[in-house]
Order: sequence, then structure tokens, then C-alpha cells
Amino acid sequence: MKYYSTRNKENKVSSMEAIIKGIAEDGGLFVPESIPTLPELENLKNLSYKELAKLIIGMYFDDYPQEDINASINGAYGEKFGNMEPVKLVEKDGVHFLELFHGPTLAFKDMALTILPYLMRAALLNKGIKQEVVILTATSGDTGKAALEGFKDVPGVNVVVFYPKDGVSEMQRLQMITQIGKNTHVVAIEGNFDDAQKGVKDIFGDVEYNKELKERGYVLSSANSINIGRLIPQVVYYVYGYLNLLKEGKIKNNQEINVVVPTGNFGNILAAYYAKKMGLPVDRLICASNDNKVLTDFFETGEYDKGRELLLTSSPSMDILVSSNLERFLFHISGEDQSAIKDMMEKLTKEGSFRWSDFSKEEIYGEFADEREVSSSIDQMYGGEGYVMDPHTAVAYSVYKKFLKETGDDKPAIIASTASPFKFPDKVIASMGEHIPENLFKGIEIIADAMKAEIPSQVSELERLPVLHRQTCKKEEMKGAVLQLLQGGETND
Ligand SMILES: *Cc1c(COP(=O)(O)O)cnc(C)c1O
Repeated sequence: MKYYSTRNKENKVSSMEAIIKGIAEDGGLFVPESIPTLPELENLKNLSYKELAKLIIGMYFDDYPQEDINASINGAYGEKFGNMEPVKLVEKDGVHFLELFHGPTLAFKDMALTILPYLMRAALLNKGIKQEVVILTATSGDTGKAALEGFKDVPGVNVVVFYPKDGVSEMQRLQMITQIGKNTHVVAIEGNFDDAQKGVKDIFGDVEYNKELKERGYVLSSANSINIGRLIPQVVYYVYGYLNLLKEGKIKNNQEINVVVPTGNFGNILAAYYAKKMGLPVDRLICASNDNKVLTDFFETGEYDKGRELLLTSSPSMDILVSSNLERFLFHISGEDQSAIKDMMEKLTKEGSFRWSDFSKEEIYGEFADEREVSSSIDQMYGGEGYVMDPHTAVAYSVYKKFLKETGDDKPAIIASTASPFKFPDKVIASMGEHIPENLFKGIEIIADAMKAEIPSQVSELERLPVLHRQTCKKEEMKGAVLQLLQGGETND
């Protein structure tokens, strides 16, 4: 299986090369040249998560020796998830929450960022690459920590994470600035997530700069969902969720379901789309946004317009105006029209918007939920079921309620539950009508009481871990910051 850029199909690379590069040289994103088909689902329903992952990831990354795929999966989905099945499906209020947050950093990003370092390292070894890799990442809060944790102390790899200074939750910030590992670097930028993501994309696209890095012995790669190595491992859990419903007798073989995904950079929902293209019986993909509803407007009107203020919400990992993976989705639904994609992406950069005339609403349903709706969903779910949702999951649940009301389509539904409520205590506490304590860790105790769960050690330890990363920079200074960090210019650890 080869991979090519959404903007130029001539330039084909293997999956190892695509994973090492992260993004294509022409600025496009790597996509598989064909989407493989799943075997008969009935025959898969007794597979463990790891077995299913070996099958699906092996289909896409077929230039890896199968031993490397197996070792990557065993390394990723064992101890790091407490040696349990890494995802859980729980039914509440008639819908099925696919809990994807039981990994080391308590957000769904762990599902891919625990395995990506293994895949990256195997690719570097197989390809005999001598330079050190620099993983450059812009984060809206969760990718940063998951990448730092996944890549810490991996030989031959450095990680640099840029996060928006005022755009992440307190818990997310603490998780990042206390990160250990000699090869980890964390920088707060004076800007929002889109500024950080644009800065990173500019660095990738700067030929001179990349030459200079190469002379110093470095090559760049990405741990954002623009890296195909992030995306494919996410396909697995949608199939796993479906098989779980089948196994428990909640659906019949080949019965269609709907899938709801709280969306930011469009990576997670794109993985669901790939699962559907592989033959998983998914009817509607429901794209849930928060107040930054660029995608909702796009699916409604066909106009993608980033020319608006980015709002800071209680679901910071979705505070995004430029959803990178939409490019891949449009590439596929346009019948792989590379020149149309190139035009639109250029328009988006130059004019801040583009129009997609030929759009079928059957492909995807987009809606958004505002802060009040998110709060009332959290409150109602807790009141009714004693189940605590984090704000991102609550966006998805609120949107699903609207979808049900509008369409009456009550097929069995899976909601991607993307973060643990422990990561976002303030909004959860306020939604339940309680007073937000001054001290973050007092808030954590309230969440633990509500969930009738123990506080995860990843959260409780933050109270006493030393701060190791204090660097900040202006959004125009990211290139310089990277060079300085690689020279060992960071004095704080
Ligand atoms: C990253 C993230 C999202 C958005 O996922 P995308 O793949 O960027 O669309 C939603 N919820 C949480 C908790 C996240 O960390």
C-alpha cells in the first residue's frame, strides 16, 4: 500500500516514509492510495483489542515487517493502559459511550500517541536513517502531553510542543510543564491554537530552514493528526466498538449504527470515515462542534470561513478554526480531485475561506453545542444516570440530542468519549451546580466523589511534580525557538 499527497498523486511513498515525514513536501497530507476492506465482521467479534489492531494496522502499514507491527501494538496497548482492554463501551441513557480516555494522559490522543513512537522508531531503523528526528507539535491541549509522554526518552527523537498560552486548561498545562524526559521541550506561545498550528506548518514548508536543520543532523516530523501514523490506529476503536455491540447482542450482524464525534482538527471523525469506507456498517457520521462552529457552518452552507474570532470554550481541545484533516475528507469525497483540493487550500490560506459546491449532506451531519447546552447535558446525565461526562464528550452528547430531535433517526449510536472528566474539573463542577473551589486539586476530589472513582495517579502527582518547562515565545519566533532548543538552549531543565 502506497501513500500519496492530497495535492499531488504522482509522489508516492511507503507508509514508513509517510510516518517519518509527517506531511508531504507540497503541503498536502498523505492518504492511502486505496482503502482496504474489512473481513466478515461476525468472524472478528471475539478478537481482543490488540488482535484487532494487528489486523487493521497491518493492512494499512504493510511495508512494516509484521513483527514490528506486533511489537508496536504490544508496547502501546499493554502496561500503559493498566493491562486492561484499552477502550470501554458503556451504555448510558440509551447511547453507547466509547471511552477512549483510559491511557497515560487521560485523553483519546493516547490511543494513537502510545503506538506512534514505536512505529516511528521502527521506520527509522528499517530505513537506516542517521539523523535525529524532531517531532514538532502544535497542541490544543491534549496532543502535547500525549506526544511528550509517548516520545519521552525514545532514542533518536526530540519532541517540541507549542501550546497556546491562554488556550489550554489548567490541568493540561500542568501536565505539560512538568513533563520529564531529556528529549522533551514545551513552549507556550503568545497566540491561539491556529497560530501554533500555522507556525508548525510554516516550519515544515520552509525549504531553507529544513536544509539548515539537516546540516545540523535533524529531520522534522509531526505527531499531529496530519501524520497518517496518528490516524490509522484510530480506525481500530470504531471497529472494536461495533464488534462489542455485536458480541453483546445489542445489534445484529451488519446492522447500521450512527457515530458521533466531538471534533476539532477532524482527525478522529476521519478515522470513523475510514472505518465506514472499510465496510463498517455506519450510516451517519455526526460531526459535533463547540462554539467554534466553522465545520457546522461548512456542512450547512458549503462555505468554509475561518475569518472569525477563535473563542475559548470549556472544550479547549476543539477550539480550532482550521481543521487540517478536512483536507483528507474532501480529497476522498471529491473522487481524489487533487487540483480542486490544491485550489481550495490555497484560497483558505490567501483569502481565509473557500467554497465547496458539490456537497452531499448524506455523508455527514454537522451541528454544534454552546456552553449552556454543554452544562445542561453534563448536569442531566449526572442527575439521571450518575455518569460524569467531560465537556468535549458533552458537546457530542448535546449534538446527538439535537440530531435525534431533528431527524428522529434512533439507530444504535456510538459517541466517542474523548477525555476523562478529571482533566476538566471546573466546567464539570459548575455544570453540576456546585461551587468551583479555588484549589484545582480540591476540584479533583469533587470529581472523584461524583464519579465514585479514585483519583488517577497521573492527576494526583501533578500537585507535587516540579515545573520543568517555562519557556514562552511570540508566534513569529517559533523557528528560532526550535533551533535554540535543539542546541540545548533551554535552561530550565
Ligand atoms: C483532540 C481532541 C478532540 C478533537 O479531536 P480531532 O481529532 O482533533 O477532531 C476532542 N476531544 C478531546 C478531548 C481531544 O483531546
